[in-house]
Formats: sequence, C-alpha cells, structure tokens
Amino acid sequence: MKAKLALLSTAILLSGCSSLTPNYNASLIIKNGQILTMNGDKTIFNDGVVVMNDDVIVAIGDKQLLTRYSAPKVIDAVDGIVMPGMINTHNHLPMIAFRGLGEEGIENRLFAYFFPLEGEKLSRELIYQATRLGTIDMAQSGVTTYADMYYHMDDMARATKEVGLRAVLGETVIKFPVVDAKTPYGGIDYAKQFIEEYKNDPLITPAFGPHAVYTVSEEKLQEIHQLSKQLDVPVLIHVSEFGNEAERIADNDEQLSPVAWLKKIGVLDERMVLAHAIHIDQNDIDTIKQSGAGIAYNPMANAKGATGIAPAWDMYRQDIPMGLGTDGPMSSNQVDLWRTLSYAANMQRLKHNDRTIMIPEQVIELATIGGARALHMDNTVGSLEIGKKADVIIIETQSPNMTPNYNPYATLVYQANPSNVVTTIVNGNIVMENRQMKNVDVKQVKEAMSVIEDDIAEFAKELAKKAITSPSLMK
Ligand SMILES: [Zn+2]
Repeated sequence: MKAKLALLSTAILLSGCSSLTPNYNASLIIKNGQILTMNGDKTIFNDGVVVMNDDVIVAIGDKQLLTRYSAPKVIDAVDGIVMPGMINTHNHLPMIAFRGLGEEGIENRLFAYFFPLEGEKLSRELIYQATRLGTIDMAQSGVTTYADMYYHMDDMARATKEVGLRAVLGETVIKFPVVDAKTPYGGIDYAKQFIEEYKNDPLITPAFGPHAVYTVSEEKLQEIHQLSKQLDVPVLIHVSEFGNEAERIADNDEQLSPVAWLKKIGVLDERMVLAHAIHIDQNDIDTIKQSGAGIAYNPMANAKGATGIAPAWDMYRQDIPMGLGTDGPMSSNQVDLWRTLSYAANMQRLKHNDRTIMIPEQVIELATIGGARALHMDNTVGSLEIGKKADVIIIETQSPNMTPNYNPYATLVYQANPSNVVTTIVNGNIVMENRQMKNVDVKQVKEAMSVIEDDIAEFAKELAKKAITSPSLMK
C-alpha cells in the first residue's frame, strides 16, 4: 500500500510539474512509436511518446508531449511497437551452458542427467559466464526482468548488472549438498548473505529459492518462510510440476496436494512465486488466490517435458497473479518469451477445445504486467505508466514476418521473433540500441563460453549413455 501511495504522489507531482514547466527536461524520449501501455485500460497511443527521466517514466501520451519535454537523447521508433519490457518469471539461466544436451530421450532427466551434470561441471566461472550469455540473449529478445532459481547468486547478480537487466534471484535451498553449499540446506546461509549484500540494489531483488516440496523439508520451508517475512524478500519454488509430488512429500500422511500442504504448514503467502502449478484443482486455485502467491506458467517447457498443461486459463479468469516463464534452458532451450507466447495461448485452446480463449492481448498481458504481478513487482514494472521504472522495448514492424500489422498484440504473439526487437531499455539505461549491446562485448562473452563448452562436451555425451542404460539412475 505504501508503494502504491508513493507511486500516486509521484504521478501527481510529475504531472503538476510538467504543466507548470514547459520544456521540462528529461533524460530520454521515445517518439513516433505505437505504444502499448499495458495499463489497466490497455491504452494504445499510435504515434505516441514515452518520456523518461533517469530511471522513471515521467510522461506518456501522444506527440503533443514533444512540445513540453526535451531530452539529450531522443529515439525515433517510427514504424515500431513500443511496449513494457517482457518478464520471464521462471528460469535457471546458467543452464544455458548445457542447452542442447541430454536430448537423447532420457526418462528421469532431472535426477539421471541434470543433477549429475551439475554436480560435475558447475563452477563460479560457468555461472558467471553463462549468466552473461543468457542475459545478452534475453536483452536482445526484449526480456528486461527475469526470475531465477540457481546457485552462486552473487555471481549471477554481478553478470546481470554488467549486462544491465533486472532480476529476482532466488538462491537454491535443497536437501543435499550442492555446488555452493557443502551441507544439506546450506543454501539458507548462502541466501542470507546474498540478501544482505543485494537488499537495496536498484536492479537485483534477492530471494530464497527452495527447490520444491519434495526436496525441502517442512521444517526448512518454515524457517525460510520466517526469514522471508523478516527480510521482506520473495520465495521462489517449484510446485505441482509433476503428478506424483503429494506422495513424495515427507510425512504427508493425509496425502494433501502440494498447494494444500504448503498452506497447512503455514508457508504459502504473498511473497511466494509458484513455478508450474500444473497438477492443481479448483480447491488449490482458491487457496492460491487467498494467499496472494504468484504463478509462473511455463507452457513450452511443460510441453517439451511432457509434464502436463497448467490450468492457466482458469487461473487467468480468476485473477490469479500469473506470468510466463521459460524454465531453464535445458527445459525449453529458449530464454526469450516469443515462442512461449504462442504456446501460452495454444496449449489452453487445445486443453479447453476452444479457439476463443486466451486472445493475443491477454497473452501480452501475461508477458508484461501479469509477470510483474506474479513476482509482486507490479508497483514498479510491467506497464508503461507515469511513476513506473523505465523498462521499455521497441520492436520493428518492417521485416516481412511482421507485415501486415493490423493488430499489434496478434503481430507480437503469432508473428514476431527475437530478431525483431531493436532496442531494450532497463531502469532508464539503454542496454541495446539498434541491435547493438551497449554494456558488454558479445564476442568476448562467446569466446569465454566456448572454453566452457569444450570442457563439458565429452563428459555430457558419456553421461547421456550412462543415463539411458543404467536403471539405478532412473529412480
Ligand atoms: Zn524450474
């Protein structure tokens, strides 16, 4: 509530300021674009203007604004769509170093392939370099905020800030030793230190990332819940990704669903972001709604992993805070949201046998303000409105695949691809302009990654053979 009031008073102050002071100076202006604000009314300004000062949007509207504002940097978005940066609500970004591996049809891929591969090959250097590559990939495709659950989050934060993106980074907590924690649940202490270091960062929101209900105990989830309240940080967790999670929860004698169990142990609240939520029923949806928790819907990863189709349309209609995610780069092989956009709609249409649901405007809502609501950041990002952070992307519409552009939402969901994104702005800083990355040497990042790839390749091939032939690894 406090944040909402602050936003409102900033808006009043700024609008008052602009009317009293012609030629009010701004730091950055975008003009001539077709602006999709994604505000509550989904206002569109054709031939519109977005005015930014430092990290904040100070005015938005039609071209009349150009008579009132000037800035040292003006971007001409002629023939372009201007919209809020997209929000990828669920990822494990450094796994981009492993993308394309383990595609041989391995049944228990998580335990027989992912975890052993990470056990052998993860390092701080891999996490840092892979995060740089992954954030470049996202910036180039119009993602300005991503949420992630992984290890050595301080290295991820460093790489993310270097490229210039915004992120919610959840340090993994899990019941066995991992690369950055030599004892079970060592991630809790790691997270506490990480949160302390990044608590007031303008781009990074530090968080806890308990892996799942079947890999973190009741007691540890309760400890994380208390800490998240005390430190006021989000908690990212996988929930109901698999159909058998209820039986895999320790001491779940009543066989409660994972959502009901989280409620029973007292940890489901408005700081939580639940990734997947595929195998849930209406009772679970009611419980989620009451709690205020957000949902990361990952349709493309869920299709590839054959884990099921989340009841996303039901949740959307019931106004559950929900955004789109890719899941890790081994789960959908993409970190941008373009293909996920059409999956988000098409999977629901197939599930409900109804071609009228989840129209493109609703899909773009999920990719922007919906994602912000899911991550509990809708007071600051997710739409282009006065007082919000200046996270803006420009998409060209002149390439053959973008022509014609009758309905910009449909053009984006069903025609666009990452290469149509020309400019990406985060927190008022230009991260990419005319496809050129501003803060980082892409060639140097790719060279650093190729050293890592060479080191992984042989081991990964052998591991795949073993995973397929060894029944013990399948448990
Ligand atoms: Zn995941």
